[in-house]
Amino acid sequence: MGTSSTEHIELTETYAAHNYHPLPVVLAEGSGAWVTDVEGRRYLDCLAGYSALNFGHGNPRLLARAAEQLQRLTLTSRAFYNDQLGPFARELCALTGKQMVLPMNTGAEAVETAIKVSRKWGYLVKGVPDGRASIIAMEGNFHGRTTTIVSFSTDDVATADYGPFTPGFPLVKYGDIDAVANAVDDTTVAVLFEPVQGEGGVILPPDGFLADLRALCTERGILMVADEVQSGLGRAGTTFACDFEDVVPDIYILGKALGGGLYPVSAIAADTDVLGVITPGTHGSTFGGNPLAAAVGREVVAMLQTGEFQERARVLGARLEAGLRGLVGDGVVGVRVRGLWAGVDVDPALLTGRELCEGLLERGVLAKDTHGSTIRLAPPLVSSEDDIDLLLTALADTLVAARGATSRARGDDRPADEHDHP
Ligand code: PLP
Repeated sequence: MGTSSTEHIELTETYAAHNYHPLPVVLAEGSGAWVTDVEGRRYLDCLAGYSALNFGHGNPRLLARAAEQLQRLTLTSRAFYNDQLGPFARELCALTGKQMVLPMNTGAEAVETAIKVSRKWGYLVKGVPDGRASIIAMEGNFHGRTTTIVSFSTDDVATADYGPFTPGFPLVKYGDIDAVANAVDDTTVAVLFEPVQGEGGVILPPDGFLADLRALCTERGILMVADEVQSGLGRAGTTFACDFEDVVPDIYILGKALGGGLYPVSAIAADTDVLGVITPGTHGSTFGGNPLAAAVGREVVAMLQTGEFQERARVLGARLEAGLRGLVGDGVVGVRVRGLWAGVDVDPALLTGRELCEGLLERGVLAKDTHGSTIRLAPPLVSSEDDIDLLLTALADTLVAARGATSRARGDDRPADEHDHP
């Protein structure tokens, strides 16, 4: 007999550091939008690896490409050329409309790369006095976990006991163009932002903000740096979330889905006047741009070139949004949707985000809470219409059960669904 889920959980909690608080489910297999636990129970994966699995688990095209490359060549380091990086770089340039890319592995490394490139560009091209470059960041941001990146996080849990922090990141309110304009000074080299704040709870900027930010950055001669690690590559219903306002940033930061959920692949993309500041020895990574990563990245880019995944995100997202709006007033107090990506705020008097996720888990749906009373929904873009309906039913049922429990606790004698549903 295999190891039970209880034993796996115990092993993990005993031997792995407690830097996460997972839901009590132990997954063993995945296919498309669905995963199976060690006891053989199936779940619809509505977290999709925080959007790394946009193309689903075990996507056949990605698996085939990776398997083929695994047999041929996996790692050369950048001490030598390999036959995948050049084509990958050219194809990613075509997708982003940029002239150059710099490949890394994780999202945080790509953000670090964008920070270093922006600062270097500030000194060498813009002429900012040495050691004074600043990058404006947004409150509520999530850009990763390195010491420099958490230096400008406004999340106490992410920063506590990790100081001293890296200076040079003035913060402004997310989506407030006047605040950005007021924060720009002679030391500013860039504005770093998420076109949709994913970890923040799928927070959408006010309409016009992206276009205004583009205009401001151009006018003030500073770099517009879009962290599209979570929002990019189809999730938002467009190739990039910046496309929502037809905006092209100076630097795209990409990760997660660039590796198709089967390998860590990240990159930044920019024009040569920006990325040209990087010279041999000034930045690098043993694994960045390796042939396996580049081969997987090439397949991801090819899949995005047709527009079919972006279209699926729009179609399924519209269905999800309609269903979620129908739950407002029944325990849902806020809904934000962009593409197949939703932030759902639940009434904290009824249940916490964690409790909602536990209720969904019981009903065969995986999702994750953020900031107490919000859950994020990001099913793989290969989900079916039936999958989305199943998610909506599981949500509605969990809320009905929570209302039932609340009214029973109050001694209310009518069933919750009788007085809450007309
Ligand atoms: N940037 C954004 C917008 C993210 O959402 C994340 C991860 O959630 C990161 C960067 C960090 O990526 P990674 O966890 O691969 O370092």
